[in-house]
Amino acid sequence: MPSVKAYAAQSATSPLDQWTIERRDPKPHDVQIQILYCGVCHSDLHFARNDWGMTVYPIVPGHEIVGKVTAVGSHVKNFKVGDLAGIGCLVDSCRECDNCKEGLEQYCNNGFVGTYGGMEKDGSGATHGGYSKSILAHEDFVLHISDKLPLEAVAPLLCAGITTYSPLRHWKVGKGTRVGILGLGGLGHMAVKLAAAMGAEVTMLSHTASKEADAKRLGAQKFVLTSSEEQVKGVTGYFDFILDTVSADHDYNFYLSLLRSSGTMVCVGVPSAPAVVPAMNLIFGRKSIAGSLIGGIPETQEMLDFCAEHGIVSDVEIIAMRDINEAYERMLKSDVKYRFVIDMSTL
Ligand code: NAP
Ligand code: ZN
Ligand code: ZN
Repeated sequence: MPSVKAYAAQSATSPLDQWTIERRDPKPHDVQIQILYCGVCHSDLHFARNDWGMTVYPIVPGHEIVGKVTAVGSHVKNFKVGDLAGIGCLVDSCRECDNCKEGLEQYCNNGFVGTYGGMEKDGSGATHGGYSKSILAHEDFVLHISDKLPLEAVAPLLCAGITTYSPLRHWKVGKGTRVGILGLGGLGHMAVKLAAAMGAEVTMLSHTASKEADAKRLGAQKFVLTSSEEQVKGVTGYFDFILDTVSADHDYNFYLSLLRSSGTMVCVGVPSAPAVVPAMNLIFGRKSIAGSLIGGIPETQEMLDFCAEHGIVSDVEIIAMRDINEAYERMLKSDVKYRFVIDMSTL
């Protein structure tokens, strides 16, 4: 088994540091990728610090992976050495249940295998993510990446892109939809770009006043500072759809009040504390609150193709691997414009 250089957290309180992992030898259906860039998702931080109480250490985060194919197994049909390729949040699932057959591998009834923090189905151990030099996965879980877009700015599409694209599509956001995007971070900035490209009227709901100009540059028509009573009054009962990307604990009821009747708020942000939502806040106005998890493999490819067609990429700040701990601290202060991406040549 080849040894691969990586960066790992050894406990919830230790900073990430160098570590060596063992990857399996390529199997007949495997695609092996030399990782060139890996995006930094807030879920990486939640996992590294055990915010959700489910982390098994050591953990190598990273599920916004792009790079070049360096080897393919003998049965691989869709990739060849030298191709650009990507891996997102999933590396395996049962492929037999109803959800898998529909291309909704993220909802696999038998449990999907996460790119990191999961367990390989063949019993070979824990999965390790993209803060590493190379990775491999069954070709069914590897995505084709366009060579028309800057590779480092495509990496965040593999999680931030699909996690926002999927609910926008599922709830049929388009021309005439009044959309509120809550939180202008990695997910939020992709949501603004995608919803605008789908023709929706986009309002940015942010707790950071200095992000107004950026929100408008990214495609939002309006900006509402959520701490300003006056600005909030202007959008009370206004939205058809709110996409909540906030990573920290917050009051869902406040944002439900911004929905018009029959409106839906979809949560993709995963704060650690449970939310308390009185039924009354849904009953009056027939409002819905829902959740959405990343997206399946076919939809991820559809999103990548949509982005290539519309010239949509992430706004990125490239960092060296050794700067990851500082990047996490900045992410906690909502100081990211708008996705950190690690240049893996620095590992
Ligand atoms: P991020 O880049 O850190 O952005 C989060 C944004 O939330 C911040 O930029 C900030 O925007 C807002 N925010 C932060 N603290 C806040 C507070 N106390 N009150 C109000 N707003 C606050 O994080 P991300 O990578 O986009 O991830 C966001 C969340 O989605 C995380 O919880 C992550 O684990 C989750 N996630 C879920 C899925 C899924 O499949 N459902 C996939 C990926 C990530 P403003 O400054 O504009 O207010
Ligand atoms: Zn993610
Ligand atoms: Zn399944």
